[in-house]
This record gives sequence, structure tokens and C-alpha cells, in this order.
Amino acid sequence: MAFSELGLSPEILQAVSDAGYTTPTPIQKQAIPHVQLGRDVLGCAQTGTGKTASFVLPMIDILAAGRGRARMPRSLILEPTRELASQVAAAFEIYGKYHRLTMALLIGGESFTDQEKKLNRGVDVLIATPGRLLDLYGRGKILLSDVRILVIDEADRMLDMGFIPDVERIVGLLPKERQTLFFSATMPPEIRRLGEAFLTDPKEIAVSPPASPAAMVKQSLIVIEEADKREALFRLIGGEEVKNALIFCNRKRDVDLLCRSLKRHGFDAAALHGDMPQARRTETLERFKEGSVRLLAASDVAARGLDIAGLSHVFCFDVPYHAEDYVHRIGRTGRAGREGRSFMLAVPEEGKAVAAIVKLIGKDIPRERVEGVAEAELVLEADRPRALYSSSRSKTGRKPSSVRAAPASDRTQREKSVGSAKEGRSEPKRGERGETNGESFGQRERESANAAIVGFGDHLPAFLARQPKSPH
Ligand code: AMP
Repeated sequence: MAFSELGLSPEILQAVSDAGYTTPTPIQKQAIPHVQLGRDVLGCAQTGTGKTASFVLPMIDILAAGRGRARMPRSLILEPTRELASQVAAAFEIYGKYHRLTMALLIGGESFTDQEKKLNRGVDVLIATPGRLLDLYGRGKILLSDVRILVIDEADRMLDMGFIPDVERIVGLLPKERQTLFFSATMPPEIRRLGEAFLTDPKEIAVSPPASPAAMVKQSLIVIEEADKREALFRLIGGEEVKNALIFCNRKRDVDLLCRSLKRHGFDAAALHGDMPQARRTETLERFKEGSVRLLAASDVAARGLDIAGLSHVFCFDVPYHAEDYVHRIGRTGRAGREGRSFMLAVPEEGKAVAAIVKLIGKDIPRERVEGVAEAELVLEADRPRALYSSSRSKTGRKPSSVRAAPASDRTQREKSVGSAKEGRSEPKRGERGETNGESFGQRERESANAAIVGFGDHLPAFLARQPKSPH
């Protein structure tokens, strides 16, 4: 099937062709005709499937007739992170270049004045993160009564990040007469229930995930002691042909520490995490994308959906807490048919977390040695307490005491056996971390906060502390 068979306007077809795309992806083929008909859509699709264009292309055509009035956007796209919101805005610019639609990007950390000016002139498309939108609404700067199309993107990520109460509030402020497009990478029961609450007689669409990023990435696992991690990383970067690399840490604080350390050792590095002011986040990402900085130490804010052309390497400086984050992290490389390269550094106590990843991706991650750094062994039963991440002291100021929970004999097990390990941590599926098992929205953020992430400081937002409703 060609794009021309989808009934899109000649202007859109030209913009799509200028972007170099000839054939619609499965989600585009399935979603576009229903969006054009004004129908609600419940789409199960991940980033990398062409999901953005599946709503952006028909939206541009729908919105082409009419104009946005001052402070009253005609459509609203909610994204969980500023980076994803910026990426959707970029897609509107690419596909809408032959239209005269106006768009505003409302994301935390950017100047209110510029955003307000745009809104005052009237916008057709408003792309926002939930918090910033509510902030502006609360100050009377925006009216949502003209929104005719609502897109909720990455709903499962919104759930993970504790944004669902905000999303519910926003939906409550919109007219009932509207078209709603709801996308999520996974569709656990509570996401489906949410979708059903927001949608009217939706067309359900599910596409299989894009070819597993793992398939295009040559992966290695390095097992070493905590004290050797930086040395190992520096040696790897020095020894490999690293054109550019993302280096993921689990904690924002460690991102900064690692970045400083990289710079001290003469590497060209920058940091990216959610506690940085938005202007710096945007600027840093731009510099990295255009190649003026080679190494980017990052938290998982950079793991999802980011499209960095020709990224040669991904290093997981820490084994991610959640196995699926590994797939997102390494999926930043090996894109667009190119082979990518990834290395994950693990300490012995991360045996369970490594086993969970191996189980998820369905194949072993070959072990490798770093020249000049002593190899260690994974402890299969070990689940590393969060407080012991990084070489620094725990939040209480006490030094970690006993780290090794498993008997010494177990430590002789090699990663090979991790590959076939049945006893690997059975990682709850995304949805299972939700309301129904007694863990509430934002659980993940809370866990991270316990591990001394500075994102919320000492303040625990009320919605995180709220008791989950019983599913019955
Ligand atoms: P998304 O899933 O929306 O994040 O899109 C993933 C990538 O696929 C982006 O780099 C898009 O520019 C690209 N893309 C979108 N539509 C198509 C298409 N029809 N053919 C090839 N690539 C596409």
C-alpha cells in the first residue's frame, strides 16, 4: 500500500515524500483511515512503529479547515516527557510544512512568557506535558473548551510516572464532544480501563513492536567490582571506536558525578537528566545530536523514543532497575538498519537484575573482559539493595554493610548460567505494578526516591502517597 491510497491531502503527501517515506507502517495503515473518519482510537503501539505520524498526519488535514482562537487550542497532545513532546512538535513541523497550522509546545522548564504569547495568538495544536498544562490552566492562561481532538500518548509511561491523576483532571476539563486517540506501548488492564473511561466506541488497533532493538545491537556484559566501574568504562570508551555514546546511570545524581569524572579524564562529555532546567536539557540534547559533544551521561529520561541518528554506542553504567528499560536504552543505537553496540557493566550483586534482562530479551548477553580490569562473577540470587547503588554512601550516611547475601559458592556461577536461569527475578509486567497488586501510581518514582534520587527532594507529592483504590 502507498501513502497516496490513504486519502491524505496532496500537501501532506508531498511532506511525507519530502521526508523520504513511501509506504505507511502498519500502525499508520490501520489508524489513519479511522482518525480521518473522526473515530476514537485505542492503539497499542510502541515508539519506533511510526506511531507519531499515525495521528499527526490525519490531524493536520482535519485541522486545516479552521483557526485557533486566542488561548483556546483546537487540539491537545499529552506526552509524558518534555523530550517526547519536543519530538512530536518536530514531527508537526516536518509533516505540516505545507500547511499554516500554528502549534505551541507547553513543557516544563521553558519560559512561560514565550508560551503564553503563542497561546494568546491562538494555536491549532497544543503539545504539552500534563503538569505544565495544569499549571497554566490554573493561572487562567488557557481555556480547553475548544479542544476537539485529544491525543494521550505513551499512556503506560504516564502511569509509571504518576501522571494519571493529572491526565484525568485535564480530560475532565475538555468538551465531551471530541475525538480521542489513546496510545500505549502496553495494554495492561488498568491502562485499558483508563482508555475505556476516556474513549467512546474506539477502534482498537494493535501492532507488534518494531523488530526487537536487541536484534540490531551487538551486546556485551562486563562483570566487575563496584570500585572498578569507572576504570572499566574509560578503558572501553578508549578502546572502542566510539563515534558517540549514551551512558545510562540509574540515578540522576550519578549522571552528574559520572559526567564530571569523564570530563576530568579528558573525555568530551555532557549530562542529561530530569532535574536539569529544560533549556539546558534541550540545548544539551541538540549539541549531542549534532555531534558537538561525543558522550552523553544520562538518566532514563533519554532511554525512550529518542531518535539520535547514527548513535554508535550505548553503555549501561548501571544495570537498570527494570528489565524493559534495558531494551529502551540499547534501542537508542542500532537504528535505521545500522548495527549498534552496547555494553552493560554489572557488579556481582546485580545477578537477579541481569537474569531478568536475559529472560526478557530471550537470549544471553555475551560476557566480555576489559583489558586491565579484574573480572568478577555475578551472584545469581543477589538482588542489589537500591541504597547500594553508586560507590557513595547511602542516604542515611551509613556505609553499606554486608553486600553479599548469597553464599560464596554461588558466586562461581558464570553469566552463562544466568542466561538459562529460571530463578531470575520475575519482573512484574508494567501493568502489574499498577493499582491491582497494591502498588500505587508512581510506585517507580517512589522507589527511585528511596534510592536518594533528588527529583522530588524531600517532598512526596500527595498523589504518590494516596492509597490505591481496590480493583473491586
Ligand atoms: P515513531 O514510532 O513515531 O517514534 O517513529 C519512529 C521513526 O520512524 C521516526 O524516525 C519516523 O520519522 C520514522 N517513520 C515514520 N513513518 C515512517 C514510514 N512510513 N516509513 C519509514 N519510517 C517512518
